[in-house]
Amino acid sequence: TATTTTRDTQIFDLISQEKHRQESGIELIASENFVSPQVMEAAGSVLTNKYAEGLPGKRYYGGCEVVDQVEQIAIDRAKELFGAGWVNVQPHSGAQANTAVFLACLQPGDTILGFDLSHGGHLTHGSPVNISGKYFRPTFYGVERETGVINYDVVEETAKRERPKMLICGASAYSRDWDYARLRAIADEVGAIMLADVSHPAGLIAKGLLNDPLAHAHIVTTTTHKTLRGTRGGMIMMRDDFENPFGIKTMKGETRLMSSLLDSGVFPGTQGGPLEHIIAAKAVAFGEALTDDFHDYAVRVKANAQAMAAAFLSRGYQIISGGTDNHLMLIDLRSKGLTGKLAENTLIKADITINKNMVPFDDKSPMVTSGMRVGTAAMTTRGLNESDMEQIVVYIDRVLMNHDDAATLATVKEEINEWMKAFPLFKS
Ligand code: PLP
Repeated sequence: TATTTTRDTQIFDLISQEKHRQESGIELIASENFVSPQVMEAAGSVLTNKYAEGLPGKRYYGGCEVVDQVEQIAIDRAKELFGAGWVNVQPHSGAQANTAVFLACLQPGDTILGFDLSHGGHLTHGSPVNISGKYFRPTFYGVERETGVINYDVVEETAKRERPKMLICGASAYSRDWDYARLRAIADEVGAIMLADVSHPAGLIAKGLLNDPLAHAHIVTTTTHKTLRGTRGGMIMMRDDFENPFGIKTMKGETRLMSSLLDSGVFPGTQGGPLEHIIAAKAVAFGEALTDDFHDYAVRVKANAQAMAAAFLSRGYQIISGGTDNHLMLIDLRSKGLTGKLAENTLIKADITINKNMVPFDDKSPMVTSGMRVGTAAMTTRGLNESDMEQIVVYIDRVLMNHDDAATLATVKEEINEWMKAFPLFKS
């Protein structure tokens, strides 16, 4: 062959170790999932070799006839899946999608209003360590202390006080659905653009199991790898394109359709060549998500989350907001005398992966935290059902209540490794 290289056993041995880790443990990180073999095949394909700056039919490189078709299929499938009128599938990640939107819509120093990171929001919605908090003036709304739920009257008051150019909703650790209609009314009241970042619940939204953000938000961003179960990546959508009424202009001072501004926000604004192999994998995943099987999957993700929440509650664990509407929940461990850090570090010894997470009004640092976040998207893909969720909570409780007892941790790990053999990553 043209290229003869020795196999990189160092890396491939590590990849096989990672596969073993994924297969033998219980994966509860709410932002993770397991993609299908055909999604991985597309992601590992020769399309990685191709430069294709621009958009289908309008490229800065030759030889794009094939990748043009691939990208157009990804766009068309995403439109069908979400009922979108316009989509850009090129963002390399969720953070990239948001940054492209900010570049397209905002000027440095503009005010943005987002959901507080320490209440479950995302870094890219105004955190001081992210470009969104460094280049813009970030302001926040949060949940109420007593209910753990967002009070939209307070969002409205905050918006009227802060006069944001952009109102952002969406979260990484909020277990309730969003009132997109109300948020759009608030955005309209103060003349803000509304951005809904649906990275976490996208797969449930696609199948109509949660409120529809596209019916209300001007712009919707998402990752493609969480409940949507695609390759890692991002995308931007709108239901309807519009000539922006916000006075946003290009660098040359021209007014353009929002779609054109957003396309430019991605490339050349914040990215170079699109990852056509990843776009192919997105297309495959969107194709899978369009099936009835995926509808069934999304229904089971939600049912499993309900079952898991009930199991935690029945063992005296506190769930922020008291339950879940989606695939995840945030558990306040203070009533059990535990920290998120201890829970994460102990559960991993039994091959249960969760992440520590700040809870609203947390008194601990982000490296310690009082909470843990768990989600059901990944284990539902593996085939686990509602009674299995109960069993997972039994294991979690046993580990946390015996966190100093190495023998118990070792026994639980063995039992879990044995149990997981019945749920192979790839069914042959
Ligand atoms: N937005 C939200 C709400 C998220 O939860 C995440 C990831 O957790 C992102 C954006 C960022 O996505 P990525 O990690 O692909 O950049």
